[in-house]
Amino acid sequence: MKPTDAATSGPAPQDRALIGGAWRGALDGRVIEVRNPATDELIARVPRMGATEATQAVDAAAKAFPAWKALPGAERSKVLRRFFDLMVRDEMRLARLMTLEEGKPLSEARGEITYAAGFVEWSAEEAKRVYGETIPAPSPDKRILILRQPVGVTVAITPWNFPAAMITRKLAPALATGCTMIVKPASATPLTALALAELAVEAGVPAGVVNVITGDAREIADSLLADARVRAVSFTGSTEVGKALMAKAARHVTKIELELGGHAPVLVFDDADLEVAVAGVVASKFRNAGQTCICANRIYVQAGIYERFAEALGLAVMSLRVGNGLDEGVQIGPLIDDAGMAKVEAHVADAVAQGARIRVGGYRLAAPAPLADRFFEPTVIEGITSAMLINNEETFGPIAPLIRFESEAEAIAMANDTPYGLAAYFFTRDASRLMRVAEALEYGIVGANDGAPSIPQAPFGGMKESGLGREGGKYAMDLFLETKYVSWALEPTK
Ligand code: NAP
Repeated sequence: MKPTDAATSGPAPQDRALIGGAWRGALDGRVIEVRNPATDELIARVPRMGATEATQAVDAAAKAFPAWKALPGAERSKVLRRFFDLMVRDEMRLARLMTLEEGKPLSEARGEITYAAGFVEWSAEEAKRVYGETIPAPSPDKRILILRQPVGVTVAITPWNFPAAMITRKLAPALATGCTMIVKPASATPLTALALAELAVEAGVPAGVVNVITGDAREIADSLLADARVRAVSFTGSTEVGKALMAKAARHVTKIELELGGHAPVLVFDDADLEVAVAGVVASKFRNAGQTCICANRIYVQAGIYERFAEALGLAVMSLRVGNGLDEGVQIGPLIDDAGMAKVEAHVADAVAQGARIRVGGYRLAAPAPLADRFFEPTVIEGITSAMLINNEETFGPIAPLIRFESEAEAIAMANDTPYGLAAYFFTRDASRLMRVAEALEYGIVGANDGAPSIPQAPFGGMKESGLGREGGKYAMDLFLETKYVSWALEPTK
C-alpha cells in the first residue's frame, strides 16, 4: 500500500439534484458532504432534500407519466439505446467518479459501469417487446385480452456498494415499460447517480421522467410511500430498512420489490478443481473489499481437500494488493466508512475470542497519509463455529471464514441454516452432485463452479429475508407493469 495523489483529481463539486428536468438544490439550502473513503477528502456536496422536495419529485414524475407512457415502445427503446451509448462513451469518467466516492478499485468500477450499461442495453431491446396476449375464450362470442400497462410513478432507493448498477437495474426497466421514476441514491455515493441522470437527460429522457433526489433517506422515503401516486418501489439495501419499507408500503398497497442482505455460503467438495475453487472464492469474497450482497461469507470445505484448499486460498489472499482504488494494480480498496470498519473488526475479534485462528491477515492496516485509517487486511480465518457472529451476519469486509465439513448432507444443512437466501456457491466436478446441490440450496442465485454469477439478463434476487421479486432481464419488467384482463363480449352477428 502506498500514498497517492490521484484522489485529489476529483470531479467538480456538485450541489444540484434533478427534479422535473431542473437541476436544483434543497429548498433550505442544506447539503450533504461526500467524501472519498480512501482519504476522507471532501469531494463534493449534494443537496440534503426532504419531504417537500420528494413531493415535488412525485408531482414532476406524475406530470411526465402520460406522455412517456403514450410514446411507442420503439421510441422509448431509442432513448434507452442512446443512454447506453453515452454510458459506454463515458465509461472511464464514470468509473473514476465511482472509485472516488465508493473506493472500489478502478478496474472493478469500470466493470460495474459495463454491467450497469448492460441493464440499459437489455431494457432498450426489451422496450419493444412489452406486450400482452390473447387467451382462447370459453365461448365463441367472447374475446379475452391481457394488457400489460405501466404502473405509473415509481421509486428506486439504492445502496452505496454498487452506485451505478443498482440504479440502472431499476431505472432502465422502469423507463422501458413507460413508467417514470424518482431515484434516491445512497448518501455516501450520490455522484455516480447524478452523473447517470445527466447522461439520461443528454440521451433525450424528457423532463420529469427521471428524477434524482439526494438527502434525508427516512424523510424522503416516508414522504414517497405516503403518496398514493407512487405505485411501485424498488429497494436495494439492508434487510432491516427493507422490512421497514415493506410495512410502510402497506398503507397504499404499493407494489414493492426488495433486494436485501445476503450471507452467502460456499461449498467446496473433495472432488472440486482446486484452482477453480480458489479463484471462485477470491472472486466472490474479495470483490469490492468484501462489500457485496452476494459475497461469500461462510466457506465450507470438505475434509479431504481442506488443507490443500486453505493453503492455496491463503497464498492467493496474501498476494492481493491493498490501497487507493485509483492506483494501478490495486485489488482491495477501503471499507466505506468507520462503522463498516467497526463491524469487520468486531466479527474478527468475536471469532478469535471464541477460538478461531487467523491464517492470513486479521488486522486493520496502518495506512500512510493521505490515506484514511480504513483499510483491512485480506484475511483467512479458520475454526469458525455456529455461535460466532461471522457465521450469522453479513460481515461486509475482506474476511474469508473457513469451516470444515464431512458429508454433502451436512454441508447443505449448514448452508441453508440462515434466514438469508440471496446467493450461494459450490465447487464440484461430479455432474450428479452439481444438480443435487443446485436444487437443494435455498438461494435465489447459485454459482456452480462460478464465483461471479451476476449478469444483466438473469433474474437477480433472494429468497427468505434476502428479498422479494427479481431484477434483471425480462423478469425486471414485472414490477413496473400491471396485468389487466379485458373480457370482451361480442355483439351477436346481425
Ligand atoms: P441501507 O442502509 O439499507 O441503505 C440503502 C438505501 O436506503 C440508501 O439509499 C439509504 O439512504 C436508504 N435508507 C437508509 N435508511 C433508510 C430508512 N430508514 N428509510 C428509507 N431509506 C433508508 O443499506 P446500505 O448500507 O447502503 O447497503 C448495504 C446493504 O445492501 C447490505 O445489506 C447489502 O447486502 C445490501 N445489498 C443488497 C443487494 C441485493 O441486490 N440484494 C445489492 C447490494 C446491496 P442513506 O444512504 O441516505 O442512508
